[in-house]
Amino acid sequence: MKKTTIVILIDALGFTIAERHGFRPGALRASARLRTVLGFSQAALASIFTGLMPDRHGLWMMYSFARGGSPFAWLRLVPPGISARRLWLRRAIRWNLAHAAGVKGYYSLYDVPREILPHLDIPARGDIFAAKGAGNARTVFDRLEKEEVSRLVWDYRTDEARAFGELEDAVRGRRASFYLLYTAGLDSDLHRFGTTAPRIRERLAWYSKRIEKIAAAAGGVPDARIFVLGDHGMRDVRESVDIMKKVETLGLDIPRDYVPFYDSTMARFRINSGRSRDSLGKLLGDQTSGRVISPDEMRRLGVEFPDGRFGDLIFLAEPGVTILPSYMGSEGVAAMHGYHPDVEEMSSLMISNDALPATAMSLTDVAALICPGFEPSQGGEGT
Ligand SMILES: [Zn+2]
Repeated sequence: MKKTTIVILIDALGFTIAERHGFRPGALRASARLRTVLGFSQAALASIFTGLMPDRHGLWMMYSFARGGSPFAWLRLVPPGISARRLWLRRAIRWNLAHAAGVKGYYSLYDVPREILPHLDIPARGDIFAAKGAGNARTVFDRLEKEEVSRLVWDYRTDEARAFGELEDAVRGRRASFYLLYTAGLDSDLHRFGTTAPRIRERLAWYSKRIEKIAAAAGGVPDARIFVLGDHGMRDVRESVDIMKKVETLGLDIPRDYVPFYDSTMARFRINSGRSRDSLGKLLGDQTSGRVISPDEMRRLGVEFPDGRFGDLIFLAEPGVTILPSYMGSEGVAAMHGYHPDVEEMSSLMISNDALPATAMSLTDVAALICPGFEPSQGGEGT
């Protein structure tokens, strides 16, 4: 890989959002709609960097149900009634995850109840922005490492304005052959203010300016390719549903009958008894705010896990509905993602100064494009 490649990955850069706010940095003329994967940013980023669907890279959700050991099992020794919101307990959990479980990537404890944590696992142990970051699946960073391509990466750990400034300087100074900048600033604004807020237009205009400056800095580099893309889109929220309360009225026992995980658009259940399978199935089947995804559809969406590690029963909210409260928090948001990938607003966008192979692409097409010669593989052997 001899050409210089610059990748700017803007979390939640939706196709329809970019259209609505006229986001089109002048230097990048080619454009494509990017179909996302069912799930949240972790699933999408892993699909971008591995070129694989979630059931092949395995990093579908931040939390899976534990099979055997859990990195939170020790919490059972902490006296009941002490909430995981307590600062010292949160610190102890973090310390334990980093040191005993070797978690290097991004995760958050959110508002997951401490009684639930010992039933959970964190499948993403590596740093997805670095080599060996996706377990056994190969990522573009593994390939770049093997080919000894000099690279510079700015991820969620760097302040956004600083990252754009440093990227521009590095490109001008030709300090690497591969550059990647990831930012979650737009995602957070969209959740807070919704997709139509003036603040979104301002932020996109700011990105445009910064991208044009980077393109100008790259102007002196022969064959420099620039890609700007997102991982998913965003949909404004119109209502919420309290699935947790409905489930709790069934009188089932955790963990004897089931273990739940309430995400903002998905409720996932590990089923431990026949009676919970029947009553949960009936309750969720009766809802109009969402539906249970069939095993067939899970397969088609590339999120099929026959061992049920992410749940035996998965309820997906209708577009515009959020599950509230959830383990993500008890406050509503203005906009959300994590809906069915067929929902128009879930698609993301890719633009480039180079030709793109099609105007409709998938996240799994990105890896080979930003890293020519990359071949997806779910085995860890070789790169
Ligand atoms: Zn988000």
